[in-house]
Amino acid sequence: MKPPAFDYCRPDDLEEVLELLARHGEEASLLAGGQSLVAMLNLRLTRPRVLIDISRLEPLRRLERRGGALEVGAGVTQAALAESLRDSEDSPLLKLALPWVGHYQTRSRGTICGSLAHADPSAELPLCLAALGGSLRLGSARGERELSAEDFQLGPLTTARAPDEMILAARFPLPRPGQGVAFREIARRHGDFAIVALAAIAEGEEIRLAVAGVADRPAVRGWHHEEATLEEALNAFAWDLEGYDDMHASARYRRDLVRRLGRSVIEEARACRS
Ligand SMILES: Cc1cc2nc3c(=O)[nH]c(=O)nc-3n(C[C@H](O)[C@H](O)[C@H](O)COP(=O)(O)OP(=O)(O)OC[C@H]3O[C@@H](n4cnc5c(N)ncnc54)[C@H](O)[C@@H]3O)c2cc1C
Repeated sequence: MKPPAFDYCRPDDLEEVLELLARHGEEASLLAGGQSLVAMLNLRLTRPRVLIDISRLEPLRRLERRGGALEVGAGVTQAALAESLRDSEDSPLLKLALPWVGHYQTRSRGTICGSLAHADPSAELPLCLAALGGSLRLGSARGERELSAEDFQLGPLTTARAPDEMILAARFPLPRPGQGVAFREIARRHGDFAIVALAAIAEGEEIRLAVAGVADRPAVRGWHHEEATLEEALNAFAWDLEGYDDMHASARYRRDLVRRLGRSVIEEARACRS
């Protein structure tokens, strides 16, 4: 299928993007890497009247340490972030997770913020942002605001972004001394969306476990590690997620992955505490 007709704009600066969003609101879609949006257009799952292409806006390609976080601008592709993390310790969790996001070809176009905006419940990047307790900077012609990952993603493909807002940047907290992280994913094939993906962060005896692919958005739980009660805690978390059956896996299988992989990802994160 071909997409329905739309007007195409490629503004030269951010101000113009925000003006266009203010003018067209719900009738406009931002085009970043196009790796999700173009498929949605072709399947006519979305019918914007105006496409605003932000993929060539240089100021959005900024990647910097700022206020205790790695701030990733809306134009930074997944491949560019992976490359910048190759020899850096700014985000060991993203370093582990990025190779699981699609394929080299999709990562070279797809952006970090595009994935967060798309808000697929099985996606790795929203999982990482939630696990780390990160946030997003949203901008509009009305001004800027910052939302936590938890307050941003409301459900499958649903976020708290207002129609005239865009994500300017995502903020991934920098690792703290003594922190250990681990990531694990089960997918039908490498590069597919996760059936279940897990990220664990261990800090002293505190554990934070985040799960994607089971609930309608990334779910995070934190607790004090005690070997004797870990199994019980993981079982309770697995049931609370209220997983579903679909063509890829049963709810029971998903619960089992949360329990089994949950334990191993926690052990791995604890073992690599610095
Ligand atoms: C073959 C294939 C395999 C894939 N596998 C995976 C996978 O395993 N895991 C995974 O997570 N993803 C996967 N993806 C999706 C990929 O990661 C996309 O890059 C990502 O979901 C969207 O990023 P994008 O920059 O391409 O955004 P686009 O497709 O351009 O946009 C996606 C949505 O976000 C909105 N948007 C984009 N940028 C902003 C912004 N700054 N502010 C507000 N809204 C914005 C758009 O309007 C649109 O609604 C796959 C894609 C393909 C084609």
